[in-house]
Amino acid sequence: MKIDLNNKVLLVTGASRGIGAAVAKMAGQSGGSVAVHANSNLASAKQLAKDIGNGSEAFEADLGNTHAVIRLYHGIIDTYGRIDVLINNAGIAIHSPLSQSEDEWINDWHQTLNVNLLAAGILCKLTIPNFKERGSGIIINISSRAAHRGDTPDYLAYAASKGGMESLTKSIARAYGKDNITAFGVAPGFTRTAMAKDFIDTYGEDYAVQDLALSELTEPQDVAQIVLFLASGLGKHATGTTIDVNAGSYVR
Ligand code: NAP
Repeated sequence: MKIDLNNKVLLVTGASRGIGAAVAKMAGQSGGSVAVHANSNLASAKQLAKDIGNGSEAFEADLGNTHAVIRLYHGIIDTYGRIDVLINNAGIAIHSPLSQSEDEWINDWHQTLNVNLLAAGILCKLTIPNFKERGSGIIINISSRAAHRGDTPDYLAYAASKGGMESLTKSIARAYGKDNITAFGVAPGFTRTAMAKDFIDTYGEDYAVQDLALSELTEPQDVAQIVLFLASGLGKHATGTTIDVNAGSYVR
């Protein structure tokens, strides 16, 4: 079995760091051309695209802005003419306790849903016709353990956005399978990235590991390996499914 992404164009959102960067790197090692998307860390994305090679390029877009999402899609089509694999990975987790004012809390919900869910939905809406024309395509949506297990009351919007990602995945898989378009979710648990840093800094790594079945924290490459398998097309008949990568911290 070989993960072969030669002649494939992959869009990885949020690829400037963390899980997205690990996915982009591995995709490049498998021969893929990667559209390395970033928001604030464009310099890192540019360096990563250069390191990957294979015609990879960096693209900048604030996914909280719907116009920027649309521009991102068109920028990639102008560059490559197509997308073979869309990986909706970019995400934010905003601390929004119920004690916030209504305005603050609602703003956080809008921002979270825009970046985590609406941007992914727009990219699917724009990419699916392109997939249909070309006769195939793969979508991978990065969800979260929170979609299944729930999250703390301070992260209600985050959990809700990830639940949305999962139903988006299922709907696309069921609607477009006959067009040879497949869709998958990958639901990481606690993974060592900037998103998890505050928690580790506050409570310590031992505390984080206590919750796991395994004795070590999940690293970005542990998630990336699963994403790459799905991106390769080898998981075709699992379309519609979400794979948990949570070190056994929530087994469903
Ligand atoms: P991370 O290290 O914080 O990286 C987040 C990525 O998203 C960065 O590339 C960032 O771009 C991008 N991003 C943030 N805000 C954005 C915006 N407004 N517009 C466009 N891009 C934006 O996070 P991660 O841990 O790798 O997370 C990747 C995915 O895994 C997310 O969907 C997350 O919800 C999910 N996940 C993570 C964990 C975990 O424990 N780490 C657990 C479950 C699920 P810039 O750096 O360029 O700003």
